[in-house]
Amino acid sequence: MPALAIRLRSVVKHYGDIKAVDGLDLDVPEGTCVGLLGPNGAGKSTTMKMLTAQAIADSGELEVLGYTLPGQSKQSRAEMGVTPQLDNLDTTLTVEQNLLVFTYLYRLPRSERRPAIERALDIANLADRRHTKVDKLSGGMRRRLLIARALVHRPRLLLLDEPTVGLDPQVRQELWALIDALRNEGTSILMSTHYIEEAERLADTVTIMSKGCAVATGLPRDLVIEHAGREVLEVYGPPARLAEVEASAAGCMLRTRRTGTSVALLGVEGRNGDLPHGERRATTLEDVFVLLTGEEVR
Ligand code: ATP
Repeated sequence: MPALAIRLRSVVKHYGDIKAVDGLDLDVPEGTCVGLLGPNGAGKSTTMKMLTAQAIADSGELEVLGYTLPGQSKQSRAEMGVTPQLDNLDTTLTVEQNLLVFTYLYRLPRSERRPAIERALDIANLADRRHTKVDKLSGGMRRRLLIARALVHRPRLLLLDEPTVGLDPQVRQELWALIDALRNEGTSILMSTHYIEEAERLADTVTIMSKGCAVATGLPRDLVIEHAGREVLEVYGPPARLAEVEASAAGCMLRTRRTGTSVALLGVEGRNGDLPHGERRATTLEDVFVLLTGEEVR
């Protein structure tokens, strides 16, 4: 059994009548990247907030880097880095000054501050922009700085809350390379995301959340095969035809997914004669996500 950077058991968090997190179990083995996927309101941000003790669980067990929360949250926070969903960089300061503030917040000894800033500038690929005020940076540069700022104290664990939300595909690719490099260096990472492709590309294991619980956990490819099979048949046609296809698929015990102008029949590998005409493709994590959460993805 590998050591766990994060271990949650039966965690519950209410906001008044709303059960934001409802009996969540979650493991992040040390040195791995775990993707937390879920539709809006699934409880991902609340989970992240409990891990930093910004929110306190009503019940359940939370351990981070071997510390028990919320009692030992100060110790665990000192050894983790957090990249929030909303950019909270100080726009009145330069890139370098933003990093310097965090070397103080994380209480780095004076002799380590300068090397830590240089390392962070390298990670963010912003050495040549060190004297630029943050409000003059592009969106992608700000995101890279936000991640690098969380790394000035060489944390063992990094929490990334929607690291690429709202960024264009090219910037997203850049950030993926950065996150992948951190994971390869042995940093444990928990990353919440809406983007299936992000989870597929970066996460060793994925936990899909819906309505506050984990509805599936595992290696992305294993989850796909377990829940949706290997092949999908995509059948196109007008709504009445699609309804007909859905009804006959239900009769054959095949699960379906409606996508706009088509209906996808899941797990059709090895079946031919009894199926309607359509296009075959490999199943994806997106098929599983829709199947388990009932939500379309962006
Ligand atoms: P998103 O992807 O939209 O950020 P999420 O998966 O992060 O969603 P949460 O933000 O954790 O979901 O929200 C879970 C539920 O808890 C939602 O119903 C939300 O409205 C509710 N909630 C979250 N924070 C609060 C709060 N401070 N007060 C009241 N309700 C809240």
